[in-house]
Amino acid sequence: MRVPNPHLYLPIEFRDEDLRVHVGTSWADLIDKVRDYRARVSKPPGNPEQEIFEQVCKNNPGSCRETSADRVLPTDDLHKRILRWLSNTAEGRKKLRFVSEALARERAAICAGCPRLRGWRGACGTCAASADKIMNELLKGKTHFDQPRGCGSLREDPRVSVWLDQPPVLGNLPANCWRKA
Ligand code: SF4
Repeated sequence: MRVPNPHLYLPIEFRDEDLRVHVGTSWADLIDKVRDYRARVSKPPGNPEQEIFEQVCKNNPGSCRETSADRVLPTDDLHKRILRWLSNTAEGRKKLRFVSEALARERAAICAGCPRLRGWRGACGTCAASADKIMNELLKGKTHFDQPRGCGSLREDPRVSVWLDQPPVLGNLPANCWRKA
């Protein structure tokens, strides 16, 4: 797969099939915007990440480079961010408060249908194994809601975050996001 070279400047924008032009502040932001737009106007979700990079690299062939088959954002190491979030969460585990299983389940169902979910496990097998280990320790005795993708907006692992009693978040999150303030 060809992706933009992170060391070169490229306009972060994408023209959708319906000719709507989306502009992002980062590649991750642009992907979120395209996903949200398609969900909002009931268009098929497609694969915004792949479509954006294909279009950008077709228009700027000299500014892209080959990367592994795993889908990895050139400017956003989601796997590292998620692992760091899990590590920080584990470090503060004594102060963690958990919500009820019913609420965690409800949240997990919302995340499961969220257009902001992004694959990250394929980017680094060791990171995925470490993340699973931390998750198993944090959620000992609790139900695991399987979710192979991560929250691309909050850079968190929803398998764990749905269980945590955390303050709501301000910002550009989907209207039905359970973390939205
Ligand atoms: S936490 Fe919110 S934005 Fe993130 S995946 Fe879940 S519903 Fe989507």
